[in-house]
Amino acid sequence: MDVLLPRTLEEALEMKAAKPEALPIAGGTDVMVELNFDLHRPEALIDICRLPELREWKRENGMIFLGAGVTYGRIMRELSELTPLTQASRTVGSPQIRNRGTVGGNLGTGSPAGDALPVLAAYDAEIELASANRARSVRWNEFHVGVKKTALEPDELILGARWRAVRGPGSFSKIGTRNAMVISVAGLCLVMDDDARAVRVALGSVGPTVLRASEAETFVAEELTRSGNWDDPGADLPVDAMGAFAERVAAAARPIDDVRGTAAYRRHACAVLARRALGWALAARREGVGRP
Ligand SMILES: Cc1cc2nc3c(=O)[nH]c(=O)nc-3n(C[C@H](O)[C@H](O)[C@H](O)COP(=O)(O)OP(=O)(O)OC[C@H]3O[C@@H](n4cnc5c(N)ncnc54)[C@H](O)[C@@H]3O)c2cc1C
Repeated sequence: MDVLLPRTLEEALEMKAAKPEALPIAGGTDVMVELNFDLHRPEALIDICRLPELREWKRENGMIFLGAGVTYGRIMRELSELTPLTQASRTVGSPQIRNRGTVGGNLGTGSPAGDALPVLAAYDAEIELASANRARSVRWNEFHVGVKKTALEPDELILGARWRAVRGPGSFSKIGTRNAMVISVAGLCLVMDDDARAVRVALGSVGPTVLRASEAETFVAEELTRSGNWDDPGADLPVDAMGAFAERVAAAARPIDDVRGTAAYRRHACAVLARRALGWALAARREGVGRP
């Protein structure tokens, strides 16, 4: 097997154009599992873990760009103010996995259980892609087109994700069979956008791709408006609103029964996660957390 070692993004894209079958390897925490179990034997690997262009993150004109090669460990150390992303990063594998594993790899694998993916969905991220002769970006929900299926062309690499920075609280939480080193049975990211007066909720592990709970989002934004909570974070939502929101989130899930849990359990888990996440966000607003 050939291993290609580009030093720059330009070199990597030229190599990919010349050898589209070469499989990119970033942290290798998914690729090496497949190789070790002999599930996949690519003709060539292209090692992209040293490309400086993929390892950067930046804030620009109210937008955040997260390079595909930024590891979970770096997110935890360098981007701790992005609470949902940091919380998701902290739940990935073990310290060793977090030191190698990247968000680009989570995107590339495209498992609906990828913990960074609900966060990118709730941020409404655009995924930036490039080949030797073109660059394009696709919305998060156009990038993943099925279980472990992406819209990436064979000659393309993922450059990273870009989204508008949000003012307001948010969280990521997941349910699994134990506390650490666990694939999520259900995961949820909730982001409150104070400026747009919107709430965005994304679900992982409960459908073929990450899903947004649009009806629940509209419902809760209207409840927050009706109760005056957008202007006065001390204003309470009606007692039954939390339950009604949680029910709508659960209804958005499209879970299946599998070895990790039944569809019914997953739906229930979504409702529990939704209720907790909304409770945390409302409490954070009351306490002024998550605001500049
Ligand atoms: C023990 C263990 C525990 C784990 N726990 C979790 C967990 O809790 N949560 C979770 O979400 N995941 C978990 N994973 C899976 C894995 O760590 C993540 O999916 C991680 O984000 C993969 O990143 P990577 O850089 O290692 O990807 P790699 O293995 O290098 O690549 C993964 C895929 O993405 C493609 N790819 C990578 N970068 C690019 C790019 N820039 N352009 C185009 N294609 C690209 C590769 O070709 C490959 O198909 C775990 C894995 C292990 C081994």
